[in-house]
Amino acid sequence: MIAKIKRAKEFADVIEVRFDCLTSDQIDPTFAMIDALQISRQLIATFRPVAQGGRKDVSLGERKEFWQKTHERCFAADVEEDVFPFAASWKRRIASFHDFDGGSVNLNGVFEALSNTDADVIKMAVTVDDISDSIPVWNLRERAKDGKKIVPIAMGEAGKWTRILGLAHGAFLTYASLDDGDKTAPGQISARDLIETYRIKELDLETTVYGVIGDPVSESLSPYMHNGAFAEQKVNAVFIPLQVRDLNEFICRMVKRETREVELNFNGFSVTMPHKQAIIKHLDSIDAAAENIGAVNTVKIENDKLIGYNTDAYGFITPLKELYGDLKGANVFVFGAGGAARACAFGLKQEGGEVTIVARNKSKADQVANELGVRSGQLDAYYDPTADIVVNATPLGMKGELENDCLFTAEQLEGVKFIYDLVTRADDTPLIREAKKANIPAIGGIEMLLHQGAKQFEIWTGQTAPIGKIKAALTKKIQQTQK
Ligand code: NAP
Repeated sequence: MIAKIKRAKEFADVIEVRFDCLTSDQIDPTFAMIDALQISRQLIATFRPVAQGGRKDVSLGERKEFWQKTHERCFAADVEEDVFPFAASWKRRIASFHDFDGGSVNLNGVFEALSNTDADVIKMAVTVDDISDSIPVWNLRERAKDGKKIVPIAMGEAGKWTRILGLAHGAFLTYASLDDGDKTAPGQISARDLIETYRIKELDLETTVYGVIGDPVSESLSPYMHNGAFAEQKVNAVFIPLQVRDLNEFICRMVKRETREVELNFNGFSVTMPHKQAIIKHLDSIDAAAENIGAVNTVKIENDKLIGYNTDAYGFITPLKELYGDLKGANVFVFGAGGAARACAFGLKQEGGEVTIVARNKSKADQVANELGVRSGQLDAYYDPTADIVVNATPLGMKGELENDCLFTAEQLEGVKFIYDLVTRADDTPLIREAKKANIPAIGGIEMLLHQGAKQFEIWTGQTAPIGKIKAALTKKIQQTQK
């Protein structure tokens, strides 16, 4: 605990110390050790039962006894409502409520009860399942009275945005974990990411907000790309994860001017699975590439109108042309018949390539091929990839269960001139390893991710994207996550 307090000083303005992590005989000596540190930060003491997020089950009696002891030091008390009166002698107090179950909570009733205490700050932390469920807790900000400060937090992946945007919108504090793997509540972000990636201390009410809409979005690399680009270009904007399950609710209650219940200054979105097709019906217009591919991965909001784009085809083609050259007449086999394969086939066809979509499920390959006006094939164990360019648009080689799986061996790839594996990995995918064995030039998915993101940045800001900066941020994050 002492070592962590010392480390937390690097990032934190205020450090929360959770005394329910200690055995009862450790508590007094720990207070003394912290005193001896003479730390130049405000400290907050917590002593919670498990139901309110504590580490061990402390009894009501133990909690009353803990709060009755006055600690004259630099500690503020963060106390649950039931034992709040016992902390009367602490100089600064937060009255807090935590709901870790995500069940139905009488938010207004709890808020009123906490408001009626003489606490300086009210903290409400409520678990949410979908993003729109965070609206009621977020909007409590407007109801703080008698000079009380408020900390509204929606916990869970779907509530992450409240942790990032809170300070800019009047929240008194935001909580962060010391390290990535050290979260004390669901959806908590590391202090380093909040400060360095999301730049929360620089955000204000003028900040334009972008985000990735999807489910899940916890592994998305887009925040690292776009926030790096905003910082580099000194754009007052932030890019946040938006875990959206019910797209209709999100668009209606959080985005559309006529019906929204929050004012977040959204300017655009990156859209990912499973909403790339479903978003279309909510848009005011859509560009030709997105229309032809049948999917939107980028939304720009302009004069309250939602405009859809697809930057995947551009992102795929740009590095390929740089490395392969003219694609006119190139014989390209695209393996997989999902969203990525569609974007690739569309881009290749526009460049004059001869495209064949090859998938395990032949009827799916036929359908995509018919819609895009290209050829189709059936993927089986004996498939012979006699093409100029082979594209892997399947999940084979992705980190996890399929990370050692590969479409072809080096011997099977003989005669192929170029390999493009869309899977994003810091190290070589199995297909790229086979390509290297066969001396075939190859690239992985990072290049596509980078260029589709750069195009999004240009659509949103009208500025040229700082590709070098984005690539560095992206590569660093991929290396960290794959360690
Ligand atoms: P998707 O819509 O789920 O499509 C995946 C395709 O792969 C389907 O046609 C599926 O066929 C096929 N497939 C799945 N498992 C397979 C297996 N074991 N063997 C052979 N084929 C298999 O996914 P997506 O969005 O198109 O993404 C596909 C890949 O591209 C993923 O690895 C994704 O990470 C990558 N990607 C990269 C970027 C980038 O920027 N680098 C962008 C988008 C996607 P069935 O129907 O037969 O299962």
